[in-house]
Amino acid sequence: MLKLKLHWQILIALALAVVAGIMSMEGVFFDHVDPKKIGPALDVKLLGFSFLEAYKFVGDIFLNALKMIVVPLIAASIITSIASMKETKGLGRLGLKTILFYLVTSSIAIIIGLAMVNLVKPGLIDGKPADQVLGISKSEAAKLPDAVKQKMLKADGTKRDVSEIRDAIVNMVPQNIVQAASNNGKLLAVIVFCILFAVFMSRIKEQYRDAQLNFWQGLFEIMMAMTHFIMKFAPIGVFGLVAAVVAGVEPGKIAGMFSIILAFFLTTLGALAIHAFIVIPLILKFVARVSPVLHFKAMRDALLTAFSTSSSAATLPITIECVEKNAGVSKRTASFVLPLGATVNMDGTALYECVAVMFLAQVIGFDISFGQQVMVVILALLTSIGVAGVPSASLFAIIIIAESINPAILGIIAIIYFVDRPLDMLRTSVNVLSDSAAAVTIARSEGEDQILIK
Ligand code: ASP
Repeated sequence: MLKLKLHWQILIALALAVVAGIMSMEGVFFDHVDPKKIGPALDVKLLGFSFLEAYKFVGDIFLNALKMIVVPLIAASIITSIASMKETKGLGRLGLKTILFYLVTSSIAIIIGLAMVNLVKPGLIDGKPADQVLGISKSEAAKLPDAVKQKMLKADGTKRDVSEIRDAIVNMVPQNIVQAASNNGKLLAVIVFCILFAVFMSRIKEQYRDAQLNFWQGLFEIMMAMTHFIMKFAPIGVFGLVAAVVAGVEPGKIAGMFSIILAFFLTTLGALAIHAFIVIPLILKFVARVSPVLHFKAMRDALLTAFSTSSSAATLPITIECVEKNAGVSKRTASFVLPLGATVNMDGTALYECVAVMFLAQVIGFDISFGQQVMVVILALLTSIGVAGVPSASLFAIIIIAESINPAILGIIAIIYFVDRPLDMLRTSVNVLSDSAAAVTIARSEGEDQILIK
């Protein structure tokens, strides 16, 4: 029987999801829904389930299945990678290269975003702040959705601000590893613990060390086998996730601000495209000396999963599989570089944060000085390291940056919320692409020759 390759199956699922999502949007097929009701017509029931519930049901099962393996996979991959290095000197070198790659590429991404948003000026209409032309602050955008309001506050109910960057650094050393492992946002703490664990594991008596190494290697193999199994369901999962996003679009709410929302969307899209299709390929070609086209092909499944899930953490198992099996990077390098990348290296996110804050400032007519732009760049870099690889995580960072530049920006943050999801899908793919490029570049610099070259 003819069996389509997985990425084709996922692409078909994506296309079907868009069609199904549009068909379940309000007013398309289901005009009989209460017209006074704001929001999508998802109350139409199918065997007692609304369409949105049905899409979310399958999508959430897939997403949970991926998330379920992330913590044991990160632990097993970092520990086996470090413990298999003969001396810790190798670890220092690998660590330094990884951090350097991540800082450089994220900085380039932010600068591309900054240049684009200054060039296109999506927040202005005929040279005037959109706020004055459209009266946005008095309109729908000023009414913050509950989800945004919640994100503006910390868990203890106080307002978010830059002090959170300090907290994020302190929290890299977990006070309780079990609690950190059970909290989605604390993967960096898990990584720090695992690095220490592996370093000291290699210093204990041989008999204990070997037993430990065997255990973690076994765990790693099991997690990868589970990833393989879960990916068989990717087309169904992707269908559910994407159909739910499309069906949830509320065109009525966007109408008044359509022009600036579109301008913002296209500016971000253009900047992300420059980074993904020019900067990263140039690095692959001239620094790693591998074929960018082959690299993109090798990463297809991971990129499509990142696009559909909007979560680089949930995509991590697939990223590891693609980088090792398709691109040919050694387990030692991939297992160290990728878990770290999924948590700290977010080129797309950093770029987006910068474009979003600058755009919102343009909309309200707040002139950001050069000094403040430098501040935005630095904060975008720092917060992109701190945000978790989960959907919409950037919104936290944008709130923190806006709070330190001009809190008035927060009054209209709802404008970007309308297009956050599609842009999240795109920036997450760029985040994963950059992680994979890092793995390949670093592997080549470590003398790995088995990588796809031409
Ligand atoms: N969803 C992104 C990720 O997982 C983070 C963000 O920009 O919101 O990589």
